[in-house]
Amino acid sequence: MTSLWLEHPQAARAVLPDDATCDIVVVGAGVTGLVTAVQAARAGLSVIVLEARTAGAATTGNTTAKVSLLQGTKLRRIRRAHPLSIVRSYVDANRRGQEWLWDFCEASGVVAETQAAITYATSAAGEARVRAELDVAREVGLDAGWTDAAELPFPVIGGVRLEDQFQIHPIELVEALAADLQANGGVLHEHSRVQDVSRSDAGVEARTGTGTVTARHLVVATSMPVLDRGGFFARQTPQRSYAAALRPRWLPDAMYLSAEAPSRSIRRAEWQGDAVLLVGGYGHVTGRVDSEAGHLADLLDWAHSDLGAGEVTHTWSAQDQSPVDELPYVGPLLPGDDRVLVATGFDKWGFTNAAGAAELLTARMTGRELDSEAMRSWSPWEATGIPRALVANGAVGYRMAQGWLRAYVGGQPPQPAEGTGTVAQRAGKPAAVCTVDGVTHEVSAVCPHMHGIVCWNDAEQSWDCPLHGSRFAPDGHVLEGPATRPLPPH
Ligand SMILES: Cc1cc2nc3c(=O)[nH]c(=O)nc-3n(C[C@H](O)[C@H](O)[C@H](O)COP(=O)(O)OP(=O)(O)OC[C@H]3O[C@@H](n4cnc5c(N)ncnc54)[C@H](O)[C@@H]3O)c2cc1C
Repeated sequence: MTSLWLEHPQAARAVLPDDATCDIVVVGAGVTGLVTAVQAARAGLSVIVLEARTAGAATTGNTTAKVSLLQGTKLRRIRRAHPLSIVRSYVDANRRGQEWLWDFCEASGVVAETQAAITYATSAAGEARVRAELDVAREVGLDAGWTDAAELPFPVIGGVRLEDQFQIHPIELVEALAADLQANGGVLHEHSRVQDVSRSDAGVEARTGTGTVTARHLVVATSMPVLDRGGFFARQTPQRSYAAALRPRWLPDAMYLSAEAPSRSIRRAEWQGDAVLLVGGYGHVTGRVDSEAGHLADLLDWAHSDLGAGEVTHTWSAQDQSPVDELPYVGPLLPGDDRVLVATGFDKWGFTNAAGAAELLTARMTGRELDSEAMRSWSPWEATGIPRALVANGAVGYRMAQGWLRAYVGGQPPQPAEGTGTVAQRAGKPAAVCTVDGVTHEVSAVCPHMHGIVCWNDAEQSWDCPLHGSRFAPDGHVLEGPATRPLPPH
């Protein structure tokens, strides 16, 4: 499935041709990596970005791209786990990120459409959440208000509304960032997956299949960090959700998100000169549902029934990381070692968060004083996330055992029908077998990251690991980390 954003023309960039040295090597060319790279290059540092696929190919190119300080019921959730000062700090860092993005879009000609953001409720439980969100938003100085949201074409109780937020085309932003990086002397290499990182006297070394980049600092901007040091895979959960563009009968003049589960997101976008309705939501932990296609079908049913939408022009899905203590992780990968830095855990609010994180990381790499209590990679606040971390890691252990058990009782794999995949035992080992476009592939079912057993994703036709969210194409090559190596042929 491909998002409408990824139809936007993109420049092709060369593979890392050879060994190189620079001040900063950034791993990953999503919004996080690119904004960090641009800020570092503008500060006079030499920067190389290594991207495994193409710029924006993972979450950034498959998002809904609302750039908002009202983020569903996020402020209420942070407030439930932390003091008000932390919520304020989170909003401040996001506001700085939002302002940076606004200025960047304005200066580089990226269309940024000003819109109100609205979190709406359709149930009593949702109303309580939305009212709590409004209280916290006001307490931290956001000029939010109550709305009856009567313009929505289905029954709602009301919602919280924040004016003057904006929405963008994420790939327009990605291309403008890449051009700005180049104009400031930085280099972006695509199809250059980092397979290993090590420290040496010369600095930090990032190894790809075609060369090694040695730098003073390395920034891991791969969503789920591809380095296991720091244990971030145990501190956040990959959440996958769905999106679609449809011919509209009704079009919104604001950006909406429901307070209730399943989350339901609404905005408008443009495609081939026409306005389209963009919907999203119906998420779940990656690899932990029976049918991803079922979630997408539910999203489309809702768009047709409640929004009266017509023909579907695009469907897609993507994942982002939900941190156990609600706060993003930004800073050293390991405590006290500034050579390798990380930014992740944006909980589906990566635009303002990524730009806020980029500013903090750039300050750190240039020796400038800037701190955010809400954006640290190691902090005392994490203790508040321990109960959720235990539950999350308990679920990981359960999935690990379930996957191996199923593989061993599964017997010999049958020939899967077109578009389907199955995991079973083959010569005493778990095999992942699928048929796509008439070709049957048979690869190891064991994720090289932490040995989970992959599951078939029937919406994307991919192998997804239910432990930490690594994803693989039918032939086993890596689509998303933390894995850096493919599923080998069985
Ligand atoms: C369905 C959905 C809707 C969303 N809607 C919004 C929204 O409306 N507003 C908002 O603010 N946020 C939203 N988000 C969240 C936002 O899109 C993300 O937080 C953000 O895009 C993350 O950017 P990133 O750069 O950290 O990660 P990514 O965009 O995933 O970039 C990471 C990059 O690293 C590369 N990579 C991985 N491994 C390696 C390796 N070993 N070597 C080299 N490169 C590697 C990947 O190929 C990828 O390009 C949404 C998320 C989802 C899933």
